Amino acid sequence: MSKIIYADNAATTAMSDKAIEALTPYLKEVYGNPSSLHTVGQTAKEALEEARARVAKCLNADPNEIYFTSGGSEADNQCIRSAAVNGLRKGKKHIISSAFEHHAVLHTLKKLEKEGFEVTYLDVYADGLVTAKQVEEAIRPDTALVTIMYANNEVGTIQPVREIGEVCKKAGVPFHTDAVQAVGHIAVDVKADNIDMLSLSGHKFHGPKGVGALYCKRGIPLNTFIEGGAQERNRRAGTENIGGIVSMAAALEEACAGMSENSAKLIKMRERLIDGLSKIPHSKLNGDRKKRLPANVNMCFEGIEGEGLLLLLDAKGICASSGSACTSGSLDPSHVLLALGLPHEVAHGSLRLSLSAYNTEEDVDAILKAVPEVVEYLRNMSPVWEELEKGERTHLI
Ligand SMILES: *Cc1c(COP(=O)(O)O)cnc(C)c1O
Repeated sequence: MSKIIYADNAATTAMSDKAIEALTPYLKEVYGNPSSLHTVGQTAKEALEEARARVAKCLNADPNEIYFTSGGSEADNQCIRSAAVNGLRKGKKHIISSAFEHHAVLHTLKKLEKEGFEVTYLDVYADGLVTAKQVEEAIRPDTALVTIMYANNEVGTIQPVREIGEVCKKAGVPFHTDAVQAVGHIAVDVKADNIDMLSLSGHKFHGPKGVGALYCKRGIPLNTFIEGGAQERNRRAGTENIGGIVSMAAALEEACAGMSENSAKLIKMRERLIDGLSKIPHSKLNGDRKKRLPANVNMCFEGIEGEGLLLLLDAKGICASSGSACTSGSLDPSHVLLALGLPHEVAHGSLRLSLSAYNTEEDVDAILKAVPEVVEYLRNMSPVWEELEKGERTHLI
């Protein structure tokens, strides 16, 4: 097979050379347990605290506001559950979120609803954006938490986090944001953005999988999530994944240092993809064109199934996605695209291309050649498309 074009970086990324180099010593020489008092343990402890300081710096946080976790999902679970339980202590049982959050957030909220919490899911409308005004109007005296993602993992739309944070601050409501798709890709500053709690994940910015972090602002209580030892200042038990943590810190620093250069390059590629793919008849870009992640393209093509599109693109060496990694594999259309108001039959024909700095303009050329071919091929054998062409069905896009 020819060269693989990997355009599924919102699902996961390849580790950078720097991240791999940072990890290697921890697989061999630096094997100590940071809780041990001897030299071998203390060497690991120093590396852990240095990594914490480096992650904190990238977010404009203090090191003691950073807690390492097993990834973005755990960070989301811990932040939301902690804020909910602490709200409940003051009699607050209401949570505000959006309809298109990641399942790590949505499923946590569903569980809290079963436990007696009431959740308001704000509409995101066709542009894939929540407004600060919507949040302001939804806040009640018994609101325990607002959790709105920084950038959506499927359609890439960037939420007005700073304004939402401002509204929450004024109302005295803790504000959590799932920033897994944002951190390392766009500027995130927890202070300027008025964020109280934030989740991030190493493998979305060329770091390793199975490691992430949460930020919890000083003064905001954070409950223990995994019980056991006293690691992470009693908030998260378990011997620390030192290699993963150090490697993630290296990846994050690298991503933040290269951010402006990479995003300029990515935006150029993104715009070329959107322009090119929009020439396919009855296609549509999902989510606001400007307020989106530099590397995200999400389009729908009428009359086809996203799964077929993915398989045929894969056969041509192009790795993409239809919705999120969690929903592909199931027959339901993406909850994100449905939240944007797309009809089921249109949402089924979706394609997400998520680039990284490792992609090239040649990759874009290859995608721009392959996608129209595959869409045409699939439409030619689609009964739905035939009905559309004969006018027996009306085009929805
Ligand atoms: C990937 C992702 C997560 C989950 O992170 P993991 O480290 O894989 O657990 C959560 N939220 C968003 C928005 C994501 O893209």
